[in-house]
Amino acid sequence: MMNIILLGPPGAGKGTQAALLQANRGMIQLSTGDMLRAAVAAGTPIGLKAKSVMEKGELVSDTIVSALIGERLDEAAGAGVIFDGFPRTLHQAEALDILLGQRDRHLDYVIELEVDEEALVKRIIGRFSCAKCGANYHDSFHPPRVPGVCDICGSTEFRRRPDDNEATVRTRMAEYRAKTEPILPFYADRGLLRRVAGMAPVEDVAAQIDAILDGKS
Ligand code: ADP
Ligand code: ADP
Ligand code: ZN
Repeated sequence: MMNIILLGPPGAGKGTQAALLQANRGMIQLSTGDMLRAAVAAGTPIGLKAKSVMEKGELVSDTIVSALIGERLDEAAGAGVIFDGFPRTLHQAEALDILLGQRDRHLDYVIELEVDEEALVKRIIGRFSCAKCGANYHDSFHPPRVPGVCDICGSTEFRRRPDDNEATVRTRMAEYRAKTEPILPFYADRGLLRRVAGMAPVEDVAAQIDAILDGKS
């Protein structure tokens, strides 16, 4: 039962790789971004607080996201977990250690997706997903096989995130550099950090991650 973190700036491919790991290894993807978007859509008290923060591209409070992760970890009992978009601050990294320890879990790997920031802006502006099943697509890098029809479920409805515009992306990148990058040494010091070349095609990135999880690199 493996517990891993996928780290990288917005658009690095965390969600894409987490979905593949979930499908191929029976691990459970815990995405704080997805949890927060669901809370916003449902209009819960957390969602009402998070909405404007997310629209600005800033970070939601450590207390809120750590509580969300704690709940989901309980639901994931017995399965390996992929943390996608969490932790994003040193505070969250410390909270995660406590949450895991309380559940007799430990981290196996922290995988950093190394990417080129300018290329990421392009990735994010072109990103969209299926409104029905959530499958991820990209206008140029990963369009549906039949234009306008989801490969997975056949739906013809898609959506784009309101924070996937250039101005907000720049703020999200700056937040990553200022608050998330500083947690890399926290994990490197414990020997948990592994790096993969995130600009490679999706399948190549997946192969690099598989090699790490299978102990081959
Ligand atoms: P991306 O992977 O494209 O960076 P996410 O879906 O992970 O985007 O996050 C979208 C937004 O949700 C972030 O810009 C931030 O406002 C909020 N968010 C998600 N996860 C966290 C977190 N761990 N801590 C604080 N805010 C978060
Ligand atoms: P994150 O969760 O880190 O914000 P996503 O997994 O949502 O990133 O990827 C952002 C966009 O880039 C999506 O449209 C996705 O289809 C595309 N994408 C993901 N990985 C790659 C890759 N290795 N090469 C090209 N495009 C990619
Ligand atoms: Zn679909």
